[in-house]
Amino acid sequence: SRKWRKSTAILKDLEEKSATPVGKLNQIADAMTVEMHAGLASEGGSKLKMLITFVHNLPTGNEKGLFYALDLGGTNFRVLRVQLGGKEGGIISQEFTEVSIPPSLMVGTSKELFDFIATELAKFVAQEGEDFQVPVGEKRHLGFTFSFPVMQTSIASGNLIKWTKGFSIDDAVDQDVVAQLTKAIERQGLDMSVTALVNDTVGTLAGGRYENKDVIAAVILGTGTNAAYVERAQAIPKWHGPPPSSGEMVINMEWGNFRSTHLPLTEYDNELDVESLNPGEQIFEKIISGMYLGEIVRRVLLKMAEEGFFGETVPEKLKEKFILRTPDMSAIHHDSSADLNLVGSKLKDILEISDTSLDVRRVVVELCNIVATRGARLSAAGIFGILKKLGKDTINDGESQKSVIALDGGLYEHYTEYRKCLENTLKELLHESVSDKVIIEHSNDGSGIGAALLAASHS
Ligand code: ADP
Ligand code: MG
Repeated sequence: SRKWRKSTAILKDLEEKSATPVGKLNQIADAMTVEMHAGLASEGGSKLKMLITFVHNLPTGNEKGLFYALDLGGTNFRVLRVQLGGKEGGIISQEFTEVSIPPSLMVGTSKELFDFIATELAKFVAQEGEDFQVPVGEKRHLGFTFSFPVMQTSIASGNLIKWTKGFSIDDAVDQDVVAQLTKAIERQGLDMSVTALVNDTVGTLAGGRYENKDVIAAVILGTGTNAAYVERAQAIPKWHGPPPSSGEMVINMEWGNFRSTHLPLTEYDNELDVESLNPGEQIFEKIISGMYLGEIVRRVLLKMAEEGFFGETVPEKLKEKFILRTPDMSAIHHDSSADLNLVGSKLKDILEISDTSLDVRRVVVELCNIVATRGARLSAAGIFGILKKLGKDTINDGESQKSVIALDGGLYEHYTEYRKCLENTLKELLHESVSDKVIIEHSNDGSGIGAALLAASHS
């Protein structure tokens, strides 16, 4: 029918505008390396902040003792403790708990948020059992994973630059997040010191390195997205501090804020951005990460519905922002049943659209595929950009060193089609001679352990 043609034409148009042929991905990777150079050259020199993390020694395996970590970065936060046994012992025991953050606290005051966190931390510490031993007379040490852009002033201090991912707490901006956490910990009467402040990418890099010495970078694909990697100190013109003895410095790229004229942006992305909490910012994040993929799909479906895709009327639920979450999009995308049963029930349960035909369901799956494929291929291009910056995209004479990228985050972990597409695209971009030298490794919750490890080496 005419309605069917008009609404599927929207899909066709989206597909064309979302295309990511290899040539385009190469341009994007090149733009990424250019921005990396600019961000390293001077503060504010690029959309990429390329933040100096003050981490110049990654875990060696010699770390020993009891350490805590706290991971705040999305909808949940985690508290964990780990008993490290040094060279021979490794990780002797670990425990964690996960608490979801009440949405009201994500847009409230700084004190409310940090008090909530410190309360949960205190509860967890109170349950410390015999497997965990603080040496007599010593304080407990905590590594704080804080996955928002921070201008660090040392390994254990730094001011929040801005919120991302749906957080918006004005009075915390420009403040030292460690000072705020420390005060909240003191209000709980807890004897604990925050000895490392790390981004989740840096934590993942540290956790990954503890497991595998070839890890050179870490990428998070979760609610948001970001990357960190090990840079030569010599290649950081904006670093005026003493040269680190290792000759290296971990850089937190804050790549979610990357943007380039080469990015295949559509009207849906522009509208999503304009209506977001942070218009004009985190453009890369808004097209590749978990917080937004489902919302992009909803926006396209709404446009199609306005052309009559779901019948005479536009389903009311479809007008609700963020109602279609990425885990649901992923479930729709992965439905392999002949009649796409699960797609049908998701459309019914979430959007209250009942009795969908098989053709309609097929189109919805295809829409998810288009949006996920673009995101996955762009994240592969970003990783390729890092490898290029490090000169690890080509073979150096006789070099047999592997380059391992530690990946983590709920999107990477659970969205199989996305993950497969990312991995295949990276292979497609890499020259044959290095494609078996570059390895993507899932670093399962490396960021918490990583923060604990960094707390250990900096306490
Ligand atoms: P965070 O990024 O908030 O620290 P995670 O790394 O656990 O936390 O990522 C959570 C995000 O991962 C969710 O916001 C969601 O976007 C995405 N996600 C979780 N489960 C799935 C799933 N089954 N399919 C696709 N995406 C998922
Ligand atoms: Mg996280």
